[in-house]
Amino acid sequence: MTPGGMSLVWDERFREYNLGPDHPFTEQSRALAVRLFDQIVPPGTANVRRHAEIEPASRSLLELFHRREYLHFVESASAFDEPTLLDAGDTPGYPGCYPAAARIVAGADRGLSLTLEEGRPAFHPAGGLHHAHPDRASGFCIFNDVAVAIGRAVREGRRVAYLDIDAHHGDGVMYGFYDSGRVLDIDFHQDGRTLFPGTGFPPETGRGDGAGLKVNLPLPPGAGDRALLSLFHRVVPSMLRSFRPDVIILQHGVDGHVGDSLAQLQYTPGAYAAVDRAVVELAREVAHSHLLVTGGGGYRPENVSRVLARTGLILAGEPVPAETTELPAAWREEFTQLVGEPAPARWGYGSAPVPSAWGPDHEDALVEQLEEELGQRFPSTG
Ligand SMILES: [Zn+2]
Repeated sequence: MTPGGMSLVWDERFREYNLGPDHPFTEQSRALAVRLFDQIVPPGTANVRRHAEIEPASRSLLELFHRREYLHFVESASAFDEPTLLDAGDTPGYPGCYPAAARIVAGADRGLSLTLEEGRPAFHPAGGLHHAHPDRASGFCIFNDVAVAIGRAVREGRRVAYLDIDAHHGDGVMYGFYDSGRVLDIDFHQDGRTLFPGTGFPPETGRGDGAGLKVNLPLPPGAGDRALLSLFHRVVPSMLRSFRPDVIILQHGVDGHVGDSLAQLQYTPGAYAAVDRAVVELAREVAHSHLLVTGGGGYRPENVSRVLARTGLILAGEPVPAETTELPAAWREEFTQLVGEPAPARWGYGSAPVPSAWGPDHEDALVEQLEEELGQRFPSTG
């Protein structure tokens, strides 16, 4: 028997990871997800333990993934009293960025500890900064919280299955553990020929001990639920069952949502919920319910907040409101204040996506290529 419920890692100071007023990435959307979750499962509810005091990760923890010289570089940008750039273009440094980014890492580290101790899911909606590399910032990510958590689990001798449904390829994580036989990495993303960071193709399957353990599923712009769900059921359960991880980490970016402002996939809330339920079940089956779920990308606050709040409810084993259910008035007011736009009225997305650029032939072609690269069969589940 595993205990129900989950642990929620959210410190208000995560909002200090703030890349500027005009930057597309904002922890406000994650804050709104937590607020919405709180409206349904009020603080004090027994089966959700809240962890709201997270201190920035120590230097030695960060060094489980990041190079010392890079940490010094971010530290000096953090001490400088003007904004700077940490990479070639889109990841600014700013006063205080080091402790802000290190606190997000500590959230993932806490989430990992909690799920390993408690045998139930842990949720870190502020995390999922999967593009940062050992020696550089990239794609809005200063430190890579999920990679540090994986690095710690691996150092402790554990096997980690990393699943990534963000619209962008999780390059920092995949290349960071490309040689590792202890990290299975399965990444669904928009095709790198059409979206940052331009990586994550089927022939990239790992190297050395990691050979055959990196699985890339690029999807064309316009692909939606059918692509994600059918491929997920075809590839993920069988790989998890044969790999037998000690812990599963899910990077739950919401930028694959239909209407996102940076990516062109078309997942709906229903698909996210189906993935969440499947991952909870698989974690129970293969990993003693050791499951850490982080946030990730997502650039429309109304989508990020609702999807991640719903993810929290699923992880906690709480009923999920129907799509037609109205959102609480207090939350809608807060949304408008924070975002400066009218709040959505209901839980559901409301309008149908345009027809999906994906059919059974696309799926078979991709699966065939994966089978060839990985030397493994993925029979159709339909
Ligand atoms: Zn993304």
